Amino acid sequence: MTSKLGNLVLDEWVDGDGDGNTLISAVNGEPVARITSDGLDFADMLQHARNVGGANLRQLTFHERGEMLKALAQYLMEHKKEFYGLSTETGATRSDSWVDIEGGISTLFVFSSKARREMPNDHVYLDGPPEQLSKNGTFLGQHIYTPKLGAAVHINAFNFPCWGMLEKLGPALIAGVPAIVKPASSTAYLTELMVRRIHASGILPDGALQLICGSVGNLFDHLNCQDTIAFTGSKNTAEFLQEHPRVVSESVAFTAETDSLNSSILGPDALPGTPEFDLYIQEVTREMTAKAGQKCTAIRRIIAPASFAGELVEALAKSLGEIRIGNPASKDVDMGALASQGQRDEVRDRVNELSHQADIVYGGTDDFDVVDADAARGAFFMPTLLHCQRPLTSHAVHSVEAFGPVSTVLPYTNLDEAIELSRLGEGSLAGSIVTNDNAVARKLVLGTAAYHGRIVVINRHCAAESTGHGSPLPHLVHGGPGRAGGGEEMGGIRGVKHYMQRTAIQGSPQTLTAIGNRWIRGADQKDPGVHPFRKTFEQLEIGDTLVTDSREVTLEDIQHFADFTGDTFYAHTDEEAAAKNPFFEGRVAHGYLIVSFAAGLFVDPDFGPVLANYGVDDLRFAKPVNYGDTLRVRLACKQKTLRAGTGYGEVRWDAEVTNQDEEIVAQYDALTMVATNEQWASVQ
Ligand code: NAP
Repeated sequence: MTSKLGNLVLDEWVDGDGDGNTLISAVNGEPVARITSDGLDFADMLQHARNVGGANLRQLTFHERGEMLKALAQYLMEHKKEFYGLSTETGATRSDSWVDIEGGISTLFVFSSKARREMPNDHVYLDGPPEQLSKNGTFLGQHIYTPKLGAAVHINAFNFPCWGMLEKLGPALIAGVPAIVKPASSTAYLTELMVRRIHASGILPDGALQLICGSVGNLFDHLNCQDTIAFTGSKNTAEFLQEHPRVVSESVAFTAETDSLNSSILGPDALPGTPEFDLYIQEVTREMTAKAGQKCTAIRRIIAPASFAGELVEALAKSLGEIRIGNPASKDVDMGALASQGQRDEVRDRVNELSHQADIVYGGTDDFDVVDADAARGAFFMPTLLHCQRPLTSHAVHSVEAFGPVSTVLPYTNLDEAIELSRLGEGSLAGSIVTNDNAVARKLVLGTAAYHGRIVVINRHCAAESTGHGSPLPHLVHGGPGRAGGGEEMGGIRGVKHYMQRTAIQGSPQTLTAIGNRWIRGADQKDPGVHPFRKTFEQLEIGDTLVTDSREVTLEDIQHFADFTGDTFYAHTDEEAAAKNPFFEGRVAHGYLIVSFAAGLFVDPDFGPVLANYGVDDLRFAKPVNYGDTLRVRLACKQKTLRAGTGYGEVRWDAEVTNQDEEIVAQYDALTMVATNEQWASVQ
């Protein structure tokens, strides 16, 4: 008898009760493992996640969690060979497995890097700038994000047992929220192997990750408002779970990624013989056959100009005819098996349903060659292309999802019709448009974007580097409206925020500065004792402020700056012309002259802990500076971000340049890198 998959419960590997169900290889029908979660205490698991996992994760800053994710990704990369070995049993070819395994691991790398670049080295994430709520600026608002205090329950689909787990786990862990992962049963053995390696690595703190192989039992009965559910699977299951009384009564956050009848539109310009026509054939063939078509983002509807739909069908049939089906471990195979025999039967039924409204023009038969495998034992299915003559009135082609290598050609006669056909899918995860006409691209994007989570526009200029129609990327949102579940995952830091609570905080500038660790105008200005540029990263305090001497701007300065830089724009060089400009009364100082003079006023020139200036943010010139005006700068240490292990930290300074009447003429954030104590000591 094959062994039972483990459940990771309270940081221990636990077998479920009973024999459980047997999981079968997609390739040869042999048993791979048994699965059961019977007897687990799901309430205990939730408590452990909340009390132990959450508490441990919340002790770390966003950057520390990012470092943890990077270490985990590196560790998993070292073990990838094992994952590839087992992945074959799911029916995946080497390139299918690459997307699942290395694509999943790279998601962790991206979230790690984004967290360290785009989030503070802190426990609170500020959402936007402060909101002015009072006349004198003593009462402000600031939106903040803090981690939810519950568990993230991740329910995944069978098609990506690694990526499906990791794309949800990355954002949750960065947010500081522990996960309970429930993979789809049929391919759970691969997820279990990866979780075993994660657990053995010791990289995640206790309670950060638990695994349920099998049913989630009564877990939902114990959810509360701090928990989050991220679900991937069918629309029916999503609806069923969303209606759970506990989900409803506790308003448990629920993100669903569900079915999608994704479309790809071929532009009217992409005639046979153009590069775009060939790209389209390649893209559709790849989308139909990668992962044997078991991708939620795969192209199911091929929306193409009626005038050359016949040539398109011919070219697609020829291209699909070159796909070799069989044992995914074989180098001579392009497309492996579906995840199970049951899945194959399901796809066959759906093709039958579709065939009432569309003609099968390629495939749709059990009579095909299978390389290096027994066709009777593996879940093999021939790529199948259908052609619907009346797509506007055929409901099934827009609603029946055959979750395999199946797609239907839907001809259109004008762009409005193409848009209407695309919208008939009632919400999709991904769409694509293949055209070299940017006016067509704009019309189609504006016409279909409201029904899509992501749209890729492909032409000869970007095809070589394009990530393709069906690849969700950690940088971009993955999800879609309507039938696609109405959810959203990933999208960089947007995906992290799904696991956090946004709260509007109101108070004085000083209070909000203390809460957010970011200095706000109106908060206390501390006397640093010495010039702040003499202080190391650790010695600097938020609010340390320098008020400089003043300096007059002369007409000679303006002329000199114009000659020196070549910026002889009339407003700086021609008194008469400048006076005609509605904003000026005569020649004014260049904005960059103001910023340059400001730097001249605030820098401390001697060798010191400030290593470099790496830019400015939010630079605004609020008022013209005329010759004869006098400038002064107030520079306050606004935010500190330690770059662990580099010897420096980033320091953001709030710079305000005022004139002799104390009116603000320019304001911006000056960005510097400042040495740590250790680094500074080592170079002196
Ligand atoms: P499914 O039956 O809905 O299963 C999805 C997940 O839900 C599995 O982990 C399943 O576990 C679990 N589940 C089922 N019933 C449950 C219940 N009562 N309580 C808790 N969990 C439950 O979907 P499927 O047929 O396996 O997957 C194919 C579908 O997923 C396709 O329609 C496809 O379009 C969609 N999909 C969407 C995406 C996306 O990102 N939007 C990605 C991949 C797939 P068991 O396996 O143990 O039943």
